[in-house]
Amino acid sequence: MHNYYGNPVARLIEEFAKLPGVGQKSAQRMAFHVLNTPTDKAQALVDAIIDAKDLAKYCSKCYNLTDQETCYICENGTRDAGTIMVVETPQDMAAYEKTREYDGVYHVLHGAISPMDGVGPSELRIKELLLRLEDEGAVKEVIVATNPNVEGEATAMYLSRLLKPLGVKVTRIAHGVPVGGDLEYVDSITLLRALQWRREL
Ligand code: ZN
Repeated sequence: MHNYYGNPVARLIEEFAKLPGVGQKSAQRMAFHVLNTPTDKAQALVDAIIDAKDLAKYCSKCYNLTDQETCYICENGTRDAGTIMVVETPQDMAAYEKTREYDGVYHVLHGAISPMDGVGPSELRIKELLLRLEDEGAVKEVIVATNPNVEGEATAMYLSRLLKPLGVKVTRIAHGVPVGGDLEYVDSITLLRALQWRREL
């Protein structure tokens, strides 16, 4: 793009344009918004970015994001630790939390098996899930709530083959969720149905 506004502004636009879903036009709008913002407000944005980078880490149990050793769900004694829902991302966990009906705990894989993208089981938090099942002992059910697409299904099959020999009940959420869809964007009622109609793998 032509450098109409001088280097500092051009650089800011360039950085915003690197964000997911942000095109040149939006990047320009954001840059001008920042320019018209008092310095302390701009600083607050910078601080929020740096703090999130510095302080956010993975829960040592479920690999959800947290700024503590374990996340607020794992810390909550009223949750049913005998039921673990396996999700691909923290956003998928949040989608199920919004339904306010699930009272088990989670395990975040941070992706799904995808040979095409070179993502194998060892790139995901699967080993950690196994360790957790060994450590905690009392897990009755693992609900596989990976996305209903090729990668999510492959991951579900892999987990079922891995976990069933351990004597754990492994279930898969039903297809109330549109095939090829992304859990993060599915409404709560559909998510709840998918959970209620889960089947054993
Ligand atoms: Zn946790």
